[in-house]
Amino acid sequence: MTAQHRAYLDHASTTALRPEALQAYVAETARGAGNPSSLHSAGRRARVAVEESREALADLLGARPGEVVWTSGGTESDNLALTGLYRARRDADPRRRRIVLAATEHHAVLDCVEWLQAREDAVVSWVGVDATGRVDPAELAAVLADGTDVALVSLMWANNEVGTVQPVAAAAERAHAVGVPLHTDAVQAVGHLPVDFTASGADLLSLSAHKFGGPVGTGALLVRRGTTLVPLQQGGGQELGVRSGTLDAPGVRATAAALRAAVAALPGEAPRLAALRDRLLAGVSQVPGAVVRGAEPGPGRLPGNAHVTVEGCEGDSLTYLLDAAGVECSTGSACQAGVPQPSHVLLAMGLTPVQAAGALRFSLGWTSTEADVDAAVAALAPAVERARRASGSRAGRAHRRRPVLAGGS
Ligand code: PLP
Repeated sequence: MTAQHRAYLDHASTTALRPEALQAYVAETARGAGNPSSLHSAGRRARVAVEESREALADLLGARPGEVVWTSGGTESDNLALTGLYRARRDADPRRRRIVLAATEHHAVLDCVEWLQAREDAVVSWVGVDATGRVDPAELAAVLADGTDVALVSLMWANNEVGTVQPVAAAAERAHAVGVPLHTDAVQAVGHLPVDFTASGADLLSLSAHKFGGPVGTGALLVRRGTTLVPLQQGGGQELGVRSGTLDAPGVRATAAALRAAVAALPGEAPRLAALRDRLLAGVSQVPGAVVRGAEPGPGRLPGNAHVTVEGCEGDSLTYLLDAAGVECSTGSACQAGVPQPSHVLLAMGLTPVQAAGALRFSLGWTSTEADVDAAVAALAPAVERARRASGSRAGRAHRRRPVLAGGS
């Protein structure tokens, strides 16, 4: 019996460790113990690893080494950016309590802001998006007409569900015009699109290694010189007191190695993935009821993102059925306490909860092949047929039960 081909099409969730990263991790680990904050030789050797990696990361992202704060990943970077900057700005001027953000941000941003709203009197101004998920510049300008009460703006570089790229540089310019700093969650962009921190104008930028072939558990927040953050963690005062905690020398070595490999490959990899993505979209859009969501292929969309909604289906059921057929993908949005919720991104783009329920995200990455794409295209139509039959019979059972329930209430 031949083994079933497994098509991993969930790279936006996490991607495989690149060989360069694995090699760097192993080599650094093999050097033995050494805390980068220790003064002895082993500590100083580990410190060299951290500082060389900081220089490499900064160089690859158009930043200065002194602007890199190592963290544990995207969620921590977002929390440090939002909470740290909000507290610093509010403490300096108590009128600055407003946070401006797009309705399609990741939960690491959204939930952090909602927490600040509930417990630290933050006020939120949401900026709407168009049907492709792009923020409306006029709405952003209107919300920022008066910046005197604004603590910060947060606008993601590229969306994790539908792949839409946001006009970060224009938004940063707009925010700066009224004296407001901007954070961008670039977790899905770094390693997948050209990212230049200085040119973007952003004051803070979040990134996460496991999205571009580095290890899970390492990330960074780029902090423009002169930007003040109130630290979230108290401890050893590492990273100039902004982020206490022992630095992970092998993790940051592997992160720098992964990003170097990703950036070097980008000129060939971006068109390769875009072509695979277009092949995938051409195939899956043939399935009756499948509608492609997000921006047109091109600079406004991540090259590896393909997103569809399928009418009459639950995205969760489809992912199970596709998995059984050897295709690993996602609905793109998280469950809340195990209960599937319609994606806030799709709702902000104007879809109804019923349309949003049929969401499927295929995300391609550095290991993706034509065979993966073809497997997904071949598997979708039968999966949709089975999902529709199942939901039809569930709807039928519910329909038959309904008069009894209605009579009972
Ligand atoms: N921000 C975005 C846009 C993401 O896609 C993710 C992860 O999916 C995160 C933040 C969180 O990153 P991490 O998994 O490194 O905590």
